[in-house]
Amino acid sequence: MANVHPLQQGLVHGGRIRVLKPSSSSSNGPVVYWMFRDQRASDNWALLHAADLAARSSAPLAVVFNLFHRFLDAHARQLGFMIRGLRLLSLRLQSLGIPFLLLRGDAVDTIPDLLYRCGASYLVTDFSPLRQVRAWKDDICSRVGPGVAVHEVDAHNVVPLWVASQKLEYGARTIRGKIHKLLPEYLVGFPELPVLENKWKAWDPPEIDWDDLLADVLRRGEDVPEIRWCEPGEAGAMEVLKGSKGGFLTKRLKNYESDRNDPLKPKGLSGLSPYLHFGQISAQRCALEAQALRKSQSKSVNTFLEELIVRRELADNFCYYQPHYDSLQGAWEWAQKTLMDHAGDKREHIYTKEQLEKAKTADPLWNAAQLEMVHYGKMHGFMRMYWAKKILEWTTGPEEALSVAIYLNDKYEIDGRDPNGYVGCMWSICGIHDQGWKERPVFGKIRYMNYAGCKRKFDVDGYISYINKLVFETKKRKSEVISAPIANHVQKVMKSRP
Ligand SMILES: Cc1cc2nc3c(=O)[nH]c(=O)nc-3n(C[C@H](O)[C@H](O)[C@H](O)COP(=O)(O)OP(=O)(O)OC[C@H]3O[C@@H](n4cnc5c(N)ncnc54)[C@H](O)[C@@H]3O)c2cc1C
Repeated sequence: MANVHPLQQGLVHGGRIRVLKPSSSSSNGPVVYWMFRDQRASDNWALLHAADLAARSSAPLAVVFNLFHRFLDAHARQLGFMIRGLRLLSLRLQSLGIPFLLLRGDAVDTIPDLLYRCGASYLVTDFSPLRQVRAWKDDICSRVGPGVAVHEVDAHNVVPLWVASQKLEYGARTIRGKIHKLLPEYLVGFPELPVLENKWKAWDPPEIDWDDLLADVLRRGEDVPEIRWCEPGEAGAMEVLKGSKGGFLTKRLKNYESDRNDPLKPKGLSGLSPYLHFGQISAQRCALEAQALRKSQSKSVNTFLEELIVRRELADNFCYYQPHYDSLQGAWEWAQKTLMDHAGDKREHIYTKEQLEKAKTADPLWNAAQLEMVHYGKMHGFMRMYWAKKILEWTTGPEEALSVAIYLNDKYEIDGRDPNGYVGCMWSICGIHDQGWKERPVFGKIRYMNYAGCKRKFDVDGYISYINKLVFETKKRKSEVISAPIANHVQKVMKSRP
């Protein structure tokens, strides 16, 4: 793969761009941006780079999104949020004169086919460290014609992954300094999207039947229903970041430092992870807005930026440089050894995946966290650590624990199927980015967490009853939604009676 592209003259910092495949000729065929991880029109370095290329060669630009039949086992919860966000995005792009094309199938077939049909000169794509996405890109590069250049832009991280570090980092302490040193260069404001003279004329973008699409994905993934508390799309994301009603920076930032580890105060966290995961908001925008408040609320701002930039980018670093990012093999040697040394230790309880999924354990605190995830769709950040560590304690060994934790996390979390999720599970169960602790049964030297520790930190009983109420209300709303069409139908039948 080619290194950092020396495109210093362009609208986007050259360090953000990698040439995955050069072109053997120059043409002014359309520039196509295959949007994957960064599903937004604003503050999107990949879109800016694609538009810049198009403007410089007087070429048209189109944004394309490929909807896979199933990606990482997403359900209605995740797909509904994404499709609703894409629908709004298509309107935004339309208002900017940029067509939005939706393809369905395998990207390795649909993308090269589209490029061929429109005679494209460039394919621009955003960056993801996940192995499936990287494999598709390799495949696509080998399938597109010699006249198409393929550029990858890191539009997700503030400091591009490959610039921040060229190796697997040991932990936050080893990457922090590298990132901080580069922030003045990369944590900068976004330019305006260039106005394009030449509009897309290859063919009229086909109408997208969004209602039909939504109904289809909701039906296929119905066992994990949508959530209602989180408004999808860029406007919804900005409202959560800095809206006047309950925006994080406007209303809640001051308590972030003190409240973020209290599961009874979910509003103590930003609530941005669904938007960051689907790229409906840029982490760089969040960082710029937060940084502007540093003078008045330095502690909370610094803590937030540590999570948003250092921890999040460390997760991408792990998934990119560690091919086994979701298995025991990806743990450091000391952790693998200690876990295997204790794999045969007697466990107080052993639960099956089904028992765990149904929250049928003897620990009401764990059950509450599991139910928060299943019904609400976002487990509190503090509880995620306890939750995953208990799975290590209650399954037959670390491999099983990891696979069950990732399965549940990806299935139910609205922000699941994310590098942060793989790293969160690997941190909790395999000690990555952590250090060795006092050796004990089952955990070996992996950091331990227990019920008594939680009791010292927050009101455990209060959390359990708060979750019980939350689950009751969610179920009630669900039954109202389900019974509404029936009620409508009954009304119609009644009206039609003589
Ligand atoms: C077992 C386990 C599983 C996890 N699964 C996921 C997941 O699937 N998706 C996900 O986005 N995060 C995951 N996390 C990390 C973290 O718990 C969530 O990012 C956070 O709770 C999201 O809520 P928030 O945006 O309100 O948090 P805030 O505290 O407001 O954080 C703001 C942003 O910073 C980033 N961030 C915060 N904490 C971390 C962290 N520990 N590591 C990396 N980035 C972080 C996230 O992008 C987050 O949205 C997991 C952690 C653990 C221990």
